[in-house]
Amino acid sequence: MAYAHIMPPREKESFGSAGSHTEVVSDLSRLDFDFAEFIEELESELATYTEKTHKTGKPNAVLVGVYDKGASDSESSMLELRELAKTAGVNILDSLMQKRTPDPKTLLGKGKLEEVILHCLKVGADIIIFDCELKPGQWRAITNSTELKVLDRSMLILDIFAQRANSSEGRLQVELAQLKYNLPRLVELDAGLSRLSGGIGGRGPGETKLELGRRQIRDKISLLEDKIDKISQQRDLRRKQRIDNKIPVVAILGYTNVGKSTLFNKLTASNVFVENKLFATLDPAHRRLRLPSKDNLTKNETVILTDTVGFIRHLPEELMTAFKATLDEIKEASVLIHVLDASDPEIAERKKAVDEILLEMQLSNVDQLIILNKSDKISQEKIDNLTTDFDAIAVSAITGIGLKELVIAIAKELDKIGKKLEKARKDSHAQF
Ligand code: GDP
Ligand code: MG
Repeated sequence: MAYAHIMPPREKESFGSAGSHTEVVSDLSRLDFDFAEFIEELESELATYTEKTHKTGKPNAVLVGVYDKGASDSESSMLELRELAKTAGVNILDSLMQKRTPDPKTLLGKGKLEEVILHCLKVGADIIIFDCELKPGQWRAITNSTELKVLDRSMLILDIFAQRANSSEGRLQVELAQLKYNLPRLVELDAGLSRLSGGIGGRGPGETKLELGRRQIRDKISLLEDKIDKISQQRDLRRKQRIDNKIPVVAILGYTNVGKSTLFNKLTASNVFVENKLFATLDPAHRRLRLPSKDNLTKNETVILTDTVGFIRHLPEELMTAFKATLDEIKEASVLIHVLDASDPEIAERKKAVDEILLEMQLSNVDQLIILNKSDKISQEKIDNLTTDFDAIAVSAITGIGLKELVIAIAKELDKIGKKLEKARKDSHAQF
């Protein structure tokens, strides 16, 4: 007979060192050993360790990347997963990388999977996040072999979208994408069902908390599709009202985590909602913004400012559709505010990723203002260089630096567009 237990991790211990201890005994019942005391000691030792590594209120995760032996971009792929996890509000305890041909059943292979799960228990993780798209069968096999919540890259991205979608349509779209993504992973009455509910990865933006059965999910999907239809009809109506009233729309967009929502809130904070019918029905992601009207700069002194879900590189195709749908609303924008994070070392790549999607959506010819946000985080010299490189306006949504200049720039841009339209109209009249 034998008993086994997890060993508490030691400082800076790396993955792979003995995770458990097994003791072989001849007769367990005659063993002179105080198990209660032993377990208490062991638990307190584990707790002392996790006290240092865990952050309160955040889910704790171990990241796992399985890459082909020849893969050269595994490091950067893992780095990106780390960033996505941080953006989703996850506390990262450890990340493990494995070079092997992915196992069709368990991704890692059965033995390795057990080792990884043991390591997760040791460091006190609640979630295990894989840097890939898990096939439904793989997700189920892994879920069935551990109590941990199992997420893949797409689920993590959907979770970020769920946290960040503000417009009613955007929220419904993300919820729909989550249900569609999870549907093949769920088997009726499967244990994994409850594992997706609540918290990270199971956070529905709407009322669905992803704890439904398959048939219910199918019903829910068609319900959501109906709702989205209705909402887009309302949107068309609102759009028509705005056009009739000549209220221009200005959309904030950019990579995820650059500070779009913070900027949106800061800019519109003093512009409290009024009981104007046109604005009362607005989505949380649309608010009116009053522009400075001095110097006769603009006749349209009020615009609708729109916040959007953030862009992410290498978006899986099935998420792309949902993501583009959440961006549908920016098609009515006269001006796009493309926000960059000035403190991000990968600023140029991020901007490129956004530009590519805009091009794909045929939005690259809409007037754009480039904004360098988080300028409070870098030196003046760097700000100067970046503003020149990107022909941008430096701001900080937190401290408020540059916001006045930004609002004036929006007004000028709209004024320019107005003049262009005017000229076009005159020219077309002149032809007759
Ligand atoms: P979004 O994904 O683009 O909407 O980004 P959020 O508005 O949610 O902001 C992401 C993070 O960046 C939050 O932690 C913000 O507090 C932070 N942030 C936003 N703007 C600034 C800024 O101007 N300066 C600094 N230092 N942090 C900022
Ligand atoms: Mg946001």
